[in-house]
Amino acid sequence: MPKAPASNILLRFLPSVDELLRTEVGQTVGRATGEGYAAVLARRSIEEIRQNIVSMANANPSKNQLLNEAEEKLSNLWGSEQLMSVKRVINATGVIIHTNLGRAPLSAAARRALIEEAGGYCTLEYDLETGKRGMRAPQSELLIRHLTGAEAALVVNNCAAAAFFVLTVFAAGGAVVISRGELVEIGGDFRVPDVLAQSGAVLREVGTTNRTSLADYERAIGDDARVILRVHPSNYRIIGFTSSPPLAQLAALARKREILFYEDIGSGALNDLGIYGLKDEPTVAGSISAGVDIVTFSGDKLIGGPQSGIIAGRSELIEQLRSHPLYRALRVDKLTNAALEATLDAYRRGAENDIPVMSMVAQNKETIAGRAAKFLSQLNIDVAGPLKFEMIDGVSAIGGGAAPGSELNTVLIAVSHENINASSIEHALRRGDRPVVSRIENGRVLLDLRTVQPDEEGDLLDVLRSVV
Ligand SMILES: *Cc1c(COP(=O)(O)O)cnc(C)c1O
Repeated sequence: MPKAPASNILLRFLPSVDELLRTEVGQTVGRATGEGYAAVLARRSIEEIRQNIVSMANANPSKNQLLNEAEEKLSNLWGSEQLMSVKRVINATGVIIHTNLGRAPLSAAARRALIEEAGGYCTLEYDLETGKRGMRAPQSELLIRHLTGAEAALVVNNCAAAAFFVLTVFAAGGAVVISRGELVEIGGDFRVPDVLAQSGAVLREVGTTNRTSLADYERAIGDDARVILRVHPSNYRIIGFTSSPPLAQLAALARKREILFYEDIGSGALNDLGIYGLKDEPTVAGSISAGVDIVTFSGDKLIGGPQSGIIAGRSELIEQLRSHPLYRALRVDKLTNAALEATLDAYRRGAENDIPVMSMVAQNKETIAGRAAKFLSQLNIDVAGPLKFEMIDGVSAIGGGAAPGSELNTVLIAVSHENINASSIEHALRRGDRPVVSRIENGRVLLDLRTVQPDEEGDLLDVLRSVV
């Protein structure tokens, strides 16, 4: 395309990096990020304008306008880079284990442990008694054994890593027998058939999508079968005409045929959550006592700890994993170990309520209604004004791969405005100094206090006041 004659002259009007850094925005960015990085952003801003001048030959801006434009670009560039950093938010969605928001918020003890115990030098692999190298974080393993009844345990980066590890070490080169009803995708790209393929095992599907019998498993175990795999379908349910053999029967079959019985239980509750209305969440202890050889579960789902994958089971199997070269690549760091230890310690003390996930699960509708009423009275809004706050019945979700039927009754605060639509309100809540993440239903913004921690209510009040 022939270049318009004016563009060469215009290019000479472009501000220099120094000129841009001397503007008000340039100075602000420079103070925040240092001169070197501010210059990088300034150069990128000016370059963008250069491209625009070349492609839009008809425009005829002055030198000053170009400088203003560069200043605005620099401001936007800096603003969008700041949004990329990990930033604390208030989760008002009512989804307790919100994967996009970092899953489980840590307990006060876990936060303290990861800063005060593990933030500096610590006993990650050091035995204070002997003054020599010790086991890596033995306390987490001790706690897992105590809380699940397993003979031994090992901690890796997440449950996907745990599943991949177990299958790679125990099933590679052989077949893994699994029900067709459990070939699921958990979300976040965890697909059981893909994990199996990657581990070098052959998938042997048995039964049908809705029904699989013990005899189906029995027939499928040939000479090459190494593992019977049971996967908790987590966020997916087939309901109605369904059946699968109980764990104890599969465990007996695996023993008889001298192969492993491995269960990927996913969320891995440590306590029976039936008292809170969550009937479908299996416990790790239940799997161990039913005779499962190895069970894997996430540290940051219902357990309420840091991202981690826990492998529990028979000690000779766990020791095989521990001495495998892959363990070196999958093991967790000191921060995770410290936070996990502190989380598990709360279960040992019977202080589950100290764990935010557990206390959010445990709150009943009346408690939340009480909190919501008090919250609205503190908000002190003109009831005749254009902005409306109402309390309505609704449900919170467990999230993080919990059963789809696992919903908890709650009371929501519905926010609406005569002249401002719900998505503008939702956006404004998200874009404040303390971002608030909410949801929209039927043209109203909904806030669920179940997932707002009591010590965040003051901040939430401030955000709502500033938005309205
Ligand atoms: C969530 C889940 C996983 C993946 O766990 P991450 O900790 O996210 O890696 C694997 N299996 C099951 C059954 C799950 O529910």
